[in-house]
Amino acid sequence: MTLSASMIKLYAASVVQPRIRLVVLLIILTLLTTNLFADNGQHMVPISLQERTRQADMVIEGEVLSQKSFWNVDRTNIYTSHIIRVYKVFKGSVQEKQLELITQGGSVGLKKHILSTALELYKGQQGVFFLMQEKEIQTTPANLALRTRAYASQQGFVKYNLQENSAADVFNSYTSVQRLYDAVLQHTGNAYRTLQENEPLLKAIDTKNSKSQTQNTQLVPVITNFIPTIATAGTGAILTINGTNFGNTRGTGKVEFRNADDGGKTFVEPRRTDYVSWTNTQIRVRIPSRGVSGGTAGSGEVRVTAPDGSVISSANPITIEFAHLNVVLSGDNIQSFKPLLQNKNGRGGYTVRFAPSLQNRSDAQEGFVRALNSWTCATNVNWEVGAPTTIEAANDDNTSVIRFAGNSTFGQEGVLASTLSRWEGLRCGTDTLFWLSEFDMAINSSISWQYGPGPPVNRQFDFETVMLHELGHAHQLGHVILPRAVMHFAVESQVLIRDLSDADIRGGNQVMEQSVVPNVCQEPPMERKTDGDCNLAQEVLTFEGSFQDGQVVLNWQTQQEQNVNFYTVQRSTNGTDWTDLTDVDATGASKYTYTDNNPLSDISFYRLKVVYNDNSSSFSARVRVIDPRSLRVLRVYPNPIPPDVYSVNLLYLVQASTTLSVQLYSINGKLVRDIEYTLSDVNVPIELSLGDLAAGIYILKWRERTNNGEFKIVKL
Ligand SMILES: [Zn+2]
Repeated sequence: MTLSASMIKLYAASVVQPRIRLVVLLIILTLLTTNLFADNGQHMVPISLQERTRQADMVIEGEVLSQKSFWNVDRTNIYTSHIIRVYKVFKGSVQEKQLELITQGGSVGLKKHILSTALELYKGQQGVFFLMQEKEIQTTPANLALRTRAYASQQGFVKYNLQENSAADVFNSYTSVQRLYDAVLQHTGNAYRTLQENEPLLKAIDTKNSKSQTQNTQLVPVITNFIPTIATAGTGAILTINGTNFGNTRGTGKVEFRNADDGGKTFVEPRRTDYVSWTNTQIRVRIPSRGVSGGTAGSGEVRVTAPDGSVISSANPITIEFAHLNVVLSGDNIQSFKPLLQNKNGRGGYTVRFAPSLQNRSDAQEGFVRALNSWTCATNVNWEVGAPTTIEAANDDNTSVIRFAGNSTFGQEGVLASTLSRWEGLRCGTDTLFWLSEFDMAINSSISWQYGPGPPVNRQFDFETVMLHELGHAHQLGHVILPRAVMHFAVESQVLIRDLSDADIRGGNQVMEQSVVPNVCQEPPMERKTDGDCNLAQEVLTFEGSFQDGQVVLNWQTQQEQNVNFYTVQRSTNGTDWTDLTDVDATGASKYTYTDNNPLSDISFYRLKVVYNDNSSSFSARVRVIDPRSLRVLRVYPNPIPPDVYSVNLLYLVQASTTLSVQLYSINGKLVRDIEYTLSDVNVPIELSLGDLAAGIYILKWRERTNNGEFKIVKL
């Protein structure tokens, strides 16, 4: 009896627990989505101080003492380890006077990874940290007993401004450090514990108090004007500030810009090498896209601090139209480099692949492709969507992977999406150049997305808007404070920006101009992509094609075709090179049909060239048709495989996603490859690498649903 009673209890507990978890999940989701009418980061949903205090394992006041970047054990990603000196403990049982904080990204040698949403810290910064135990990264440079990560990435740090005795994070500002303490204490309900005195903070408050008493005796600097008033960041553009009482040399003086990464809540200070000249009446400084302690120079007033500490802000704002991301290596905060785009795939640019989590998600794929096309049509950036990948991870593997991930997977609570730029530098003579070697994008799967074409409703986020912004980062653009621009740091909820602004396009074009020309390292430059689906004819409403009895039947519907003379039907094997099939007069009928009696085998593309009365023309979107006789047939090429070729292509045409399993056996029956591929209707060949296999004969066996077969492959 007792036994069965306890069994019933156990059984009941295991049933109830998932329900509790579900409720907790719902609460978290509600919390994530209730604040949407505030100012939301393009990548971030605000998480309240209360929620951060509740969710974090530890809340501490600390200072960054040092940092060191390192590769993880698998060498797939770079992380940065920070040693944090702990001053106060607001939550958690922290006893250690120093702890280790691990963030994503950093640089080792000439490799640098940067995640668009990762927390970035600099030596000497201090503030309140919201921390979780770090469980995934086991081996770190310092290997301190207490290893942590920031809860909610950038929102896990409220940074102090010691000079002003204030504090700010991405979404909130505090007029004094004491106010921040009060706000945190309100949520913890306990007094904080002091582990050691925060001398730098006490000293800063002292200095500020004594300064405010003596300020009147000093000569106050004056800004008369600055040129230009519309500028760019991270491009080398120089700002000239004219005025008086700037001091004869810079000394501890500085120029500051509003920080575009937090919408101007904090300021960005240029690096020492950004100052070109400094006299009592004129300062010349390069506008940085990566300040000495992070941040991107954005629109707003320009602030000058004279060497004696007196401060003046410009009466008028500067407008920063775009920012070219810059590479700054850890441990060398002096130089900055403008990364270039490259021809990585042999076809002029980068191939993007959808991870398994995006397969069977045609709404998301289409939204992504529309955003990708918008950039390609505006700047000719060379991006293409390639075969899907089986890799469900962001790795340093020369593959740009787009994937869905939950909060827990990438440890970034409140983040909508993030783009990881991986850069690699090369020293050529006296020059050092950096390129984007790949970019990986993670999209938060727990967000309520609107994939289009309809607008976002009921607190949804517009998928295409966020993809356009993330692809802007992949295009090597940073944030701006310019509400209509796609690269604006924040967007109101339910806002839909599916078009690039002129400022975004100018930024993209500037990156392209530098990327498509030969370079001193003789790396292959990016080639402009000019065959994107751009400037589509508005007269063509729908255009469809399908195989029927060995022929391809094309149907299209039109509107307002008064100015159209005729439609030329075009066909292509690859979607790039087109031949004319026939002309069809525009009769005002609004419904047209054309039958191709001699269609191509396998895959073919069709489009309409719309020719107007004045002889100008535009195009319809293209349709792709697949000969049904070519579907579900595996083709393997080249075969035999020449000695200097290290992989073989597998082509298996499908119209819906499916799984293809492939086994490769040596001639004496030993299994040498066993792979499952997820195929989608993108229908691009799969590369099966054979580089490590000896020459000889191999047997390839394959299966897809009820279809299967085998091949003899000869490796020469
Ligand atoms: Zn962004």
